Amino acid sequence: MTVLPETVEGIRREVCALHAELVRWGLVTWTSGNISARVPGADLLVIKPSGVLYEDLTPESMVVTDLDGTVVDGVHAPSSDTDAHAYVYRAMPHVNGVVHTHSPYATAWAARGEAIPCAITAMADEFGADIPVGPFALIGGDDIGKGIVATLSGHRSPAVLMRSHGVFTIGASAKSAVKAAVMCEDVARTVHLARVHGPVEPLAREHVDALYDRYQNVYGQQAARDAKEGGHS
Ligand SMILES: [Zn+2]
Repeated sequence: MTVLPETVEGIRREVCALHAELVRWGLVTWTSGNISARVPGADLLVIKPSGVLYEDLTPESMVVTDLDGTVVDGVHAPSSDTDAHAYVYRAMPHVNGVVHTHSPYATAWAARGEAIPCAITAMADEFGADIPVGPFALIGGDDIGKGIVATLSGHRSPAVLMRSHGVFTIGASAKSAVKAAVMCEDVARTVHLARVHGPVEPLAREHVDALYDRYQNVYGQQAARDAKEGGHS
């Protein structure tokens, strides 16, 4: 299979630039968190290097691996979460971007092992359901990837709270997976704040369905819908 070098170079630049969004939205601390993207038409992915500070990331420092997580091109070692990303790409052909963070509010729900109830319209729009909890899994090998795929297969939510760990999101593009990570933390915070002063009632299923359908199929600009990256405006 031939991969145009300019394609890989473009994805290196995109994945590098998207990491700045994790910092901008307050989703990551020190070197935690990572983004990957699938290389179209190839059994390859581009992912953050392990242990490099966000401000030191460059397109050249991104690591290219095959879908078994073996380095194909890169100066640095790939993220220690590469096995999980690679497993998701092998199992879910429609996924082209994966994001992992320990964003604090969402990870607090993960620490309790509690799904975030779909209780506000913005959450119905983006997630179409509760944000589910995945199993506890130790890093290394395929256990985290298996947990992500088992939880999100057939689920509307592009985000999973891996128990006692943090958030993984998937998307048709790396950018849409980043958007899901940002929105996951936003709704985790809002529902948490609501809980502080009283019980939170989930939305009725028919209302969730209507909101999700409208947002995914009718709302916003066509181009944004095509990219599944539209926002509220
Ligand atoms: Zn982690």
